[in-house]
Amino acid sequence: MAELVQRYLDQIRAEHAGVTDGALADYIPELAAVDPNGFGLSLSSADGFIYESGDSAVEFTIQSISKPLTYALALDQIGAEAVDAKIGVEPSGEAFNEISVDHTTKIPKNPMINAGAIAAVSLIPASSPDERFAVIREFYSGFAGRQLELDHDVYTSEKATGSRNRAIGYMLQSFGVLDGDPDEVLDVYYRQCSLRVTSTDLAKMGATFARGGVNPQTGRRVTGASVVKRALSVMVTCGMYDAAGDWVSAVGLPAKSGVGGGIVAVLPGQLGIGTYSPLLDEKGNSVRGVRLCRSLSEQLGLHFLTVSRDSRATLRATYKAGEGIRVYETHGDLLFSGAEQVVRRVDRERNDFDVAILDVSGVDDIDDAARALLSGMSAALRAEGKEGYLVDPDGIVIRNEPGLEAVRYRAVDDAVAAATTWRDSGLRSTH
Ligand code: GLU
Repeated sequence: MAELVQRYLDQIRAEHAGVTDGALADYIPELAAVDPNGFGLSLSSADGFIYESGDSAVEFTIQSISKPLTYALALDQIGAEAVDAKIGVEPSGEAFNEISVDHTTKIPKNPMINAGAIAAVSLIPASSPDERFAVIREFYSGFAGRQLELDHDVYTSEKATGSRNRAIGYMLQSFGVLDGDPDEVLDVYYRQCSLRVTSTDLAKMGATFARGGVNPQTGRRVTGASVVKRALSVMVTCGMYDAAGDWVSAVGLPAKSGVGGGIVAVLPGQLGIGTYSPLLDEKGNSVRGVRLCRSLSEQLGLHFLTVSRDSRATLRATYKAGEGIRVYETHGDLLFSGAEQVVRRVDRERNDFDVAILDVSGVDDIDDAARALLSGMSAALRAEGKEGYLVDPDGIVIRNEPGLEAVRYRAVDDAVAAATTWRDSGLRSTH
């Protein structure tokens, strides 16, 4: 069956193969030496199944796709407050290599432009540039699930022609954003940009972001969910150079591109996409990569702002299970908005029952907000002289909270039996 998806990906890649617009990045001489025809597409599902099409094994340098990773590493290592003191989160509307800081805050506007990315490198705790690079490489490798290697030629080429980045480094030092030697920080930055990846590595990295920091193939937690949320946020607002607005409206996936020709795109909770094609548009984004992602998003409905029906689907059925006994059956993922609807519905119908039985045995996942709302429901009903029982065989709402165990049942029948006993015992009138 997996070949259905494979065939679809091969076909959509083939549809874009004839596009030859764009040009190789040539401000780093070594980048102008790659094969302009390379074209790879990889997709990783949230459980780590990989689809590959075309040149998915061709290695190229990660370049600016390193930026959200090092930003995530900085957040992971020193925390959001310390990172925010040195790097903003506002889109800049400027070119990626603009020699600028924010007029008011005097720090780089965001971590996706070179100024912010160079500042992020300087925030990684280490006792030497080599150690700092080793930590960075290890972190990226955790996302990719394999050890990434340095492209020495690109690194040397980038270092030899890096006047603009040097200007940025020294500017940052003058504003007090960079402590230490700018050249040492820049050297690590050139090395991180020169790590080699394939489109499959990018898809795996994307899937690790999609899974909130757990690499679905290795099962290893590389970083925490709050770090990922931050990194994805800046990818949404600033990830595609100054074409971020176009990208969000047309494609709608947190993403980052690099002048090496790669794009990583993430659909949180669902999948990671990696594309490779080194011909770039004037903003620095891969022409075929952008078009491919746009088609994938349109055809597969991947836009992250596609209005989901989840919360409406949460309440599957409500029915009467005896005189004054009503069952509310939920399913799917129970998040705040779904739980809020359940609570509102139970509240609206509270004159129709004496006992409400909430059946969560068909729920796959639940978040803390939904759990808090639902576990409060029983107490709220009791305060009105009614009862609220929960059919929660796996203990997803009520784990081991003393006092609440009494209202938790393994099956609807057990809850209905308890409700009948309660009703018939006349306890009702004593409430
Ligand atoms: N190493 C490149 C630079 O600093 C990265 C550029 C990019 O991919 O946007 O110029």
